[in-house]
Amino acid sequence: MIIVMKPHATKNEIQALIQRIEELGYTAHPIHGVERTVVGAIGDERGKMELQALETMAGVDRVVPILEPYKLASMAAYEKTSEIPLGSGVVIGGQKIVVIAGPCSVEGEDQVIETARIVKEAGATVLRGGAFKPRSSPYSFQGMERDGLRLLKQAGESFGMPVITEVMAAEDVALVAEYADIVQIGARNAQNFSLLKRIGRIQKPVLLKRGLSMTIEELLMSAEYILSHGNPNVILCERGIRTFETATRNTLDLSAVPVLKGRTHLPVVVDPSHGTGYWKYVAPMGFGAIAVGADGLMIEVHPHPKEALSDGPQSLKPQTFARFMKMLAPFAQAVNRTL
Ligand code: PEP
Ligand code: MN
Repeated sequence: MIIVMKPHATKNEIQALIQRIEELGYTAHPIHGVERTVVGAIGDERGKMELQALETMAGVDRVVPILEPYKLASMAAYEKTSEIPLGSGVVIGGQKIVVIAGPCSVEGEDQVIETARIVKEAGATVLRGGAFKPRSSPYSFQGMERDGLRLLKQAGESFGMPVITEVMAAEDVALVAEYADIVQIGARNAQNFSLLKRIGRIQKPVLLKRGLSMTIEELLMSAEYILSHGNPNVILCERGIRTFETATRNTLDLSAVPVLKGRTHLPVVVDPSHGTGYWKYVAPMGFGAIAVGADGLMIEVHPHPKEALSDGPQSLKPQTFARFMKMLAPFAQAVNRTL
């Protein structure tokens, strides 16, 4: 059940509700939205009538049963997408489209600083860069780890941009969260449930990528792991799934965006770089993503893609990225959004 508070419910009323939910043997998950607070009551719902009776408590607007298996991720109690602050004044889920851009991997100080300058000048608001890299081959570049985190944070600070980077292992969550403003769970770890539970115990925003062969419902269940362990700041990311098609690296499932928009209040980002695998297809799929309702994009950019230590073929050159950003504006405008 989700208990929706009235817009002006007081702290005491919310606290009294949480206490009552816990007395009834449920776990209470308050989510403090911009306009109102909603409180998830999670547990065995056989005593449904008791929960329905919470509707009579002071400050409560309504009690909504959630039929989906993903309770806290569900749209049922929400009228609109949740807005999540990412740091440095950047918010995702609102009217403004968030463009996350940067290299696949942090390769060195000059490379990450140069890329940060390029993407910032072109209008991106979040800087990306991998320091722990999930590579298919153990012989490929694995990332600069702690040094990479430090360089990424330094570059973000120099240009006033929050930074996002991937964490691959539960034991590295504290380290990565120390440097990152947003923590990324990669496609290959999207169903690593012990990692998801660990990420649920921090409060930093999390960008959860869709796994290579995950259904939309499974993606929402993975988000539910994070939400139910206490972290309400989850952003979903469509980055392509594996199909029989070989002309692109993955098949970018843009239909996932409107489907997710109908089912969850969590913001949705699209990554056309990993979604297609070729720089040529990044711009058209990026335009499409905004047209179908995405709240943000993740784009790989490298000052010299031919020399990149990972994902060069799908990385945009500085000028191509700048042109892309200019061409993106009217697409955002067409769906009443701004960049
Ligand atoms: C990445 O963003 O660098 C990455 C490895 O993405 P994915 O997990 O979607 O493959
Ligand atoms: Mn990459």
